[in-house]
Amino acid sequence: TDAWKGLRVAVFGLGKTGFSVADTMVELGCEVLVVTQQADAERSQLLAVIGAELVVDESLDVLAGGPPQPLLDFDPQLVVANPGFPPSHPLLQWAEGDAGLPVWGDIELAWRLRDKVVRPDGSPAEWITITGTNGKTTTTQLTATFLAAAGLRAAPAGNIGVPVLDAIRDPQGFDVLVIELSSHQLHRINGQGYGHGPAGELHPYASVCLNIAEDHLEWHGSFEAYRAAKAKVYDNTKVACVYNKADEATMKMVEDADVEEGARAIGFGLGVPGPSDFGVIEGIVVDRAFLDERHHTALELTTLDELAAAGLGAPHVVANILAASALARSFGVETGVIHEALKTFRLDAHRIETVAVAGGIAWVDDSKATNPHSADASLKAFPSVVWIVGGLLKGVDVDELVAAHVARLRGAVLIGVDRDELRTAFQKHAPELPLFEVTGDVAQAGAAGGERVMEEAVRFAASVAHDGDTVLLAPSAASMDQFADYADRGNKFAEAVRKHLAG
Ligand code: ADP
Repeated sequence: TDAWKGLRVAVFGLGKTGFSVADTMVELGCEVLVVTQQADAERSQLLAVIGAELVVDESLDVLAGGPPQPLLDFDPQLVVANPGFPPSHPLLQWAEGDAGLPVWGDIELAWRLRDKVVRPDGSPAEWITITGTNGKTTTTQLTATFLAAAGLRAAPAGNIGVPVLDAIRDPQGFDVLVIELSSHQLHRINGQGYGHGPAGELHPYASVCLNIAEDHLEWHGSFEAYRAAKAKVYDNTKVACVYNKADEATMKMVEDADVEEGARAIGFGLGVPGPSDFGVIEGIVVDRAFLDERHHTALELTTLDELAAAGLGAPHVVANILAASALARSFGVETGVIHEALKTFRLDAHRIETVAVAGGIAWVDDSKATNPHSADASLKAFPSVVWIVGGLLKGVDVDELVAAHVARLRGAVLIGVDRDELRTAFQKHAPELPLFEVTGDVAQAGAAGGERVMEEAVRFAASVAHDGDTVLLAPSAASMDQFADYADRGNKFAEAVRKHLAG
């Protein structure tokens, strides 16, 4: 509509999401300038094709001489910032400070354009929003799978890889979008500077914060800021706020949230459920929240035995299934549909994936365990472990994690640049444990470096592992110091394992 025509919008960052923002804004008739530290050739070319301007400035994070001149000349009226830009970034300090500009994220923008996706009755698609320190992607996939199995047009989107703006512009349309939100995206929702697009703040149909533990402290500046961002997922929820009974912080968030009248709080947990919860009774996974007149006690969803047979038996995976079931049930999906869908659901790669079993030793890739909370869940799934750990710790403390698991460790291999913190923790809590460090630093990053790191790690692990042990890659850290991403790290591990076993 006319509100957008000619609006001068600066987009910060040119990843997949940044491009979806620029593309959408151009479609709306805005003038668009993208400012980024690095740009790949393909996206740069596409920007030129759609008619957006591009400024690449390699020292953007320092900003010694002030904002880039082309940005000042452009004189933006609105900024859309992508997650690569933490609030402390000098360019955002300038935008929000001196320049006094409204700063949105892609989610804020998508919400204002939500009436572009219409259901058969003409109403916009509902949003189900999912956040948490761990389990977001798995729970998002589960929820979307349950909804689709019920015949609804549902799609996973957001942090999971399909930008919400791309889902919104998908011509097929949807009944419901299942949106994975990172703390970075949540930080920028319900912000200032209204006046474009449909008024009002993000109102999800149902929402969940799965759990919360230390992560991304460098980006947010403090744990409290990280927690506050996550808590925003519940704001204005219309029907169901799903929370984790084993994580009191999530219950507190629901209590403190401003939700729509009639919205219910629904708990999930591995224990016996209360009257408005999802839980487990004697091995049977049940819904006690959405009962009808015929059912006074609980509705059966599946059993722990069936889940174990499908490779979905790890306690944290069951927790994700309970949360996803609660979200889907709040949207009216039948229990039988969930039961059937779980028979064929498979976890994504690099999430507790067994890559080989040889000589009684299991080699497991949980490269997606990128923080202590997920590494903790992963370690708990195995009694005796040789642990490959390390990378970029992102400012979080690993002391407690190491202390909690020394009893199950046969040995440990430290990788990555932040080895000092890990070494200190191991020396303190397990001075006798066989410990090996793969030396080398960012100078050796990239394909060849990462390959050598994993080959050395695997060689040492094999030398200390016994029959019945698990060699577990659960790094509790980000991968970008030595690998392209967590998938690259997991693949290099699997390759190194295969090479070792073949040699
Ligand atoms: P996210 O999208 O939040 O990173 P994923 O579903 O991709 O979550 O899972 C990432 C990793 O976190 C998994 O490999 C596993 O180690 C761990 N994990 C998954 N679900 C949970 C959970 N509910 N609680 C703790 N750890 C979890």
